[in-house]
Amino acid sequence: MKIKQIDVFQKTYTMSAGKFVISGGKVASDQDSTIVRIETDNGLVGWGEQCVFSPGYLVAHGDGARAALKLLAPAVLGMDPSTPELIYGVMEKTMKGHYYAKAAIDIACWDLFGQSTNMSVSDLLGGTHRTQIPLYAPISMASPDEMKDDCAKWKSFGYKRFQMKVGGDYETDLKRVEACMSVIEGAERIIFDANGNWTQHEAVQIVAALDGLKIFVEQPCATMEESARVKARSRQPFILDESLLTSADVLRAHELNAMDAVMLKISRFGGITPVKKARDISMELGLALTVEDSGGGDIITAAMAHFSASTPDRFFMNGFFTGSMVKERITEWGCKNSGGFGELPTGTGLGISVDKEILGKPIATYA
Ligand SMILES: [Mg+2]
Repeated sequence: MKIKQIDVFQKTYTMSAGKFVISGGKVASDQDSTIVRIETDNGLVGWGEQCVFSPGYLVAHGDGARAALKLLAPAVLGMDPSTPELIYGVMEKTMKGHYYAKAAIDIACWDLFGQSTNMSVSDLLGGTHRTQIPLYAPISMASPDEMKDDCAKWKSFGYKRFQMKVGGDYETDLKRVEACMSVIEGAERIIFDANGNWTQHEAVQIVAALDGLKIFVEQPCATMEESARVKARSRQPFILDESLLTSADVLRAHELNAMDAVMLKISRFGGITPVKKARDISMELGLALTVEDSGGGDIITAAMAHFSASTPDRFFMNGFFTGSMVKERITEWGCKNSGGFGELPTGTGLGISVDKEILGKPIATYA
């Protein structure tokens, strides 16, 4: 099996709730997605996607991904997509860094790897532990009352896991926590995510004020060093997210004692191939984890679902369906979820069939 043709599409998604807000004044109302379709010489078609919530959130940019693909796509033509490590090696040789841009090609290769071996990606990742994935509800940063209402809404849908965006000033953040906890206290998983926006001294004070609550604190400060210093004075379990870009970061953050659990984002690491390694390392270190991504639609969410399905119970933290936050559906599966559980797509590879008509004409074709 050889890669015969790579088509690149651009798709703009709109947020179902109108907008999503995180700390530091970052707002997403629409998302710029880059979708890759790989066709092989034996007639198979695989799909991959890269998308970021907003370019101000992580090191990723739609136009940047498309520019990088001008170099990456021709470099992997003729290669066997069921050899993701070889393909990754060629992408690394072709272009250093730019992990997010490599993610779309890597994911499409795993889709083809699965189809060609008659296996799902979750089975290729080690085996399927669950087909119903417990999801967390994403609560946008807003006034304490609005966040409380949002928690109540998601709770009424059946959600038992929640992630609230905080990372503002001390008084308002404590009111946010209090308002949300009045609705969700006792839930299975409660996370307050500052997205790195507290300074060290702010984080020390806020986290101290939350002592005694059964919650997780996610990415309190911008760096793992600051987060480690806050954690040293806290009794809450910490999750790191933005600080982790590579497997080496996971090892370094563990060495610094900066976290108790990890949040791995597929496109930030550069696709399924590098996240698989980071997940293995995290589990060996005894760290529970969530594999998710920073935006996007049905395709990237399917990849997230396969990771969530293949993570053993002991280390499974949460699932998340980022694609359910946007209006546009491009597959039959369509991020299927209900009652706080997401459904693993069935079938081989990613288990999705993309409606090419919805995507329109490719913006680039490499053959
Ligand atoms: Mg986070």
